[in-house]
Amino acid sequence: MCETKMLKIGLLGGMAWPSTLEYYRIINETVNLSLGGTHSAEILLDSLDMAVIEAIQQQEKWDELGAYLRYHADVFLREVDFILICSNTMHKVAETLEVGGHKILHIADTVGTAIQNAGLKKVGLLGTRFTMKETFYRERLAQMGIETVIPSDEACQEIDRIIFEELCRNEILGSSKMYFLAVISDLVRKQGVEGIILGCTEIPLLVMQGDTDIPLFNTLECHATAAAEQAISQYV
Ligand code: GLU
Repeated sequence: MCETKMLKIGLLGGMAWPSTLEYYRIINETVNLSLGGTHSAEILLDSLDMAVIEAIQQQEKWDELGAYLRYHADVFLREVDFILICSNTMHKVAETLEVGGHKILHIADTVGTAIQNAGLKKVGLLGTRFTMKETFYRERLAQMGIETVIPSDEACQEIDRIIFEELCRNEILGSSKMYFLAVISDLVRKQGVEGIILGCTEIPLLVMQGDTDIPLFNTLECHATAAAEQAISQYV
């Protein structure tokens, strides 16, 4: 076997597939930018069926989801150095994988670091209703000194609908983009947030930094870039 000094990344993807494509591209581009030539990342991808995951999420059977993800992560054992769960929402079960001995690069830690580096303290959080309303994500950021604010109940419901009914199906609609931009400017005006976390890996397919002056924190990009940097950290 050909040994390299690069760490191998395990991607638990397909949640949903359009954002996993972006993970693959960003990780490879970041590695290539540092190492040059024909260098690319060492990746093992397990791409799951979003319909299966969505169905269990909607029933809120998180123990079942944890076991399901752990079963897939176990396939990586002995093969990869660390794992990325390519979804913010599915980090709700990240601990189940960690308890199983897997090294997880947590998406909230990578975005939290980006927010700290930007010197911000209070940000808006957009994502699935699970990510916005539950504690698993917001508390992790709070421990890093970052306050998160979420939209109104009505807006949370509509954002969640757009994620599952459009973005996870690779449908990118102008009307939904306008909706997101209106929610973002509301959070800035009424709640005084200094930036916005695009806390679902499909949102950056719809809303980009060029669409607004408020700083956007693209969780997919933070996660993928941090993974690439970690993979080459021991490369000499
Ligand atoms: N990719 C999404 C996220 O970052 C949503 C899909 C899912 O529910 O896993 O939260």
